[in-house]
Amino acid sequence: MSDLNNKFPGKDISSDDLISKFPLCAKKRKNHKTKFKVAGVEFGGNTIPILAGPNLAESKSLVFKTARALKKMGVHVMRAGAFKPLTFPYRSKNYFETRENGIQWLKEASEKFKLPIISEIMEEKHLPLFCKNVDILQIGSRNMQNYPLLSACAKTMKPIMLKRHYGASLRDLLGAAEYILYEGNKKLMLCERGVTAPHTHRSSSRFLLDLQAVPALKELTHLPIIVDPSHATFWRDWVEPMALASVAAGADGVMIEAHPNPSKAAVDPLQPVNFPELKSILKKMDKIAKTIYKKRVLQ
Ligand code: PEP
Ligand code: MN
Repeated sequence: MSDLNNKFPGKDISSDDLISKFPLCAKKRKNHKTKFKVAGVEFGGNTIPILAGPNLAESKSLVFKTARALKKMGVHVMRAGAFKPLTFPYRSKNYFETRENGIQWLKEASEKFKLPIISEIMEEKHLPLFCKNVDILQIGSRNMQNYPLLSACAKTMKPIMLKRHYGASLRDLLGAAEYILYEGNKKLMLCERGVTAPHTHRSSSRFLLDLQAVPALKELTHLPIIVDPSHATFWRDWVEPMALASVAAGADGVMIEAHPNPSKAAVDPLQPVNFPELKSILKKMDKIAKTIYKKRVLQ
């Protein structure tokens, strides 16, 4: 087969070639899919989990207010960063360092509202704190190829969501995923969150949502694929259409930034939706999931 590929370089990669490059994340047969549960929430199954919440765990009251609202509307996992990778080292006047206390607030809200938590881990030294308090380790786009961090996170056997770097190919993303599976950790999902492109549709937009990555990844790998339309569009009015399109494209989960007072968010205030907007997006996603895939978003 590789002879054929050499003769016809435009030919599709064969499944044999795939397995030799990505032995652990390659799909081995048509219906080969990874499914796993995190605190009762199934990934890769017939419900499409929604991971939502603010960019930053800004305060205890924001975390609790958000968790209460998310639980009530049927969100499956709460997201919020405490250790943030910020593009510039300068802080806006609304920005508060949350760090360890942010993780503690998330844990308390998780227990009170029975809502699992995903939060981004930036450094290996924070693993003990995260392992105790967080349900899913998020490895952010900027650390996608931080191989020592990938291996250290994988070894904890905690569920992991690996975000694609905005300049990385699917080959790079799957290579990074191999590092995690190689440690024997099978609770891994991948996240498409937008790529850099010359034309991002608004002068202030930063990324272009690569929805084509969803069917492409589902052809290549058995891992669940999550889409984050908030970081991709950077523009709240575009989150709903792109969240709906993510479900239509076959996403196994959707991550959406939501904040009680979006324009006052301490980080990226242009991208979160408010709670009534999120509730309406969930209902529409549920309709699409039922109509196209006989899956659901809401219980
Ligand atoms: C985030 O989800 O808060 C985040 C920083 O995402 P990304 O790594 O995709 O920029
Ligand atoms: Mn962010």
